[in-house]
Amino acid sequence: MHRSNVNHDKIREQCGVFGVVCDDGSKNVAQYVYSGLMALQHRGQEAAGIAVMRPNSPITCFKDCGLVNDVLRPDNIKGLFGNIALGHVRYGTVASSTPECAQPWFFESNEVTFAIVFNGTITNYAVLRKKLEEKGHIFTTEVDTEVISNLIASIHVTTKDWIAIIQSLMNLLDGSYAIIIMTSKGDLYGFRDPLGFKPLCFGEFSTSNGGESRVQVLASETCAIDALLGKVTGHVKPGEIVHARVGEGLHSEKVVSSPRRALCQFEFVYFANNTSELDGISVYDVRKKLGANLARLAPVSSNNAIVVPVPDSGRSAALGYAQASNLPLEEALIKNRYITRTFIMPGQDKRRSLVNLKLFPDKRTIAGKDIILIDDSIVRGTTTEKIVRMLKANGARSVHLRISCPPIKFPCYMGIDFPTRQELMASYHSVDEVCKMLGADSLAYQTMEGLMESIGLTKNELCCACLDRDYPLKSQPVLDDLEQTFTGKRK
Ligand code: SF4
Repeated sequence: MHRSNVNHDKIREQCGVFGVVCDDGSKNVAQYVYSGLMALQHRGQEAAGIAVMRPNSPITCFKDCGLVNDVLRPDNIKGLFGNIALGHVRYGTVASSTPECAQPWFFESNEVTFAIVFNGTITNYAVLRKKLEEKGHIFTTEVDTEVISNLIASIHVTTKDWIAIIQSLMNLLDGSYAIIIMTSKGDLYGFRDPLGFKPLCFGEFSTSNGGESRVQVLASETCAIDALLGKVTGHVKPGEIVHARVGEGLHSEKVVSSPRRALCQFEFVYFANNTSELDGISVYDVRKKLGANLARLAPVSSNNAIVVPVPDSGRSAALGYAQASNLPLEEALIKNRYITRTFIMPGQDKRRSLVNLKLFPDKRTIAGKDIILIDDSIVRGTTTEKIVRMLKANGARSVHLRISCPPIKFPCYMGIDFPTRQELMASYHSVDEVCKMLGADSLAYQTMEGLMESIGLTKNELCCACLDRDYPLKSQPVLDDLEQTFTGKRK
């Protein structure tokens, strides 16, 4: 990732990764990468890219700023032939949205050639970069992928065995990552950090166009395999390396062990596609359970109540709340699908006016009702406050906020674009204070117990650091330094 300091009122995932190997050398897999990346677009909207090759032939790469549809246009990728490929979608900031920061990252030297896609954050980036610079490596950007690529090149000097290279790399890196690498020999390797912060899954499908051939897929989320009408066959384990090559299928190679796991809880609450499964757990089921749990924890006593989701992120939790409380679910706020990027607008006033354009309130549904408003989280509170006001201006008798995630109080250092602690509304304010500031009649958050029960994983299997400040990193991070780094530019 590239460090940023952008004003937005939703926390942003940074990237989605995708890789394919097709047994049939005559296929052009760019079409599969396109479909996979379209399904992963929610993980990053600032840049997209593709790298394609045939075994033992050059890797070609195309990447640019923009949505998948804009970047992977037929004109742009028509020369990219091959049966092995990588794809990437990236969320960056306005300042860092340059084609150089887009992925796949292509590394070529006299010794080694490969392409890499990465989702995550390397928390010991500065230390690793300094060591590499002392050895003579030159850097042109501030992205983690460049440091990882240079590390791979330096390890490659000592061994040509890619499994050993990746294992050494994992022992050097601290932080969160899901990575896919394509080597010039035609091998594809996918691996997750030993704590498994970021999801990564695999699957396969058969092509039927002009004779059957098998295609192996690695992807951030199962929705990308579903988009190809494929079958999800597994989830890369934390610390595991999965290897695919033409004609040999896909198999697991080695695992770097860890005493605990730390899958990001926010993937379930907000980031991941509703239809995805993360480590075999349905995101949709979790979101519904979160809503049902909120209904038990914080019911609203009224004979005129309706449950209203904040679209789209509050939908499944609202359904869970409505079903558990036997109340009607109403779509009283309709999203304007053409206004999607409020987060890139600098300054509070512009953001406020865009929220107005983003949601259309349905006055007839709202007037005279006690609204139980369901959303996934409160970050700065700007959007939530605006929505509460909008509901009341349209005749709501009262607005009761129910939030499917516990209060977000601390920044993330694991690859999610977060505001600073000062900007996180729940960090320095009690629940009552937040409720008052947002103009709501009542406010209730999910509990930590409710979150873990809904996901079905324990505290030892999840990262909840933005909720409880328990950062599960390998080395004890200097938190103030990290906050400094993550709120400014890397120096
Ligand atoms: S700190 Fe929060 S957003 Fe970051 S990885 Fe942990 S749970 Fe996810």
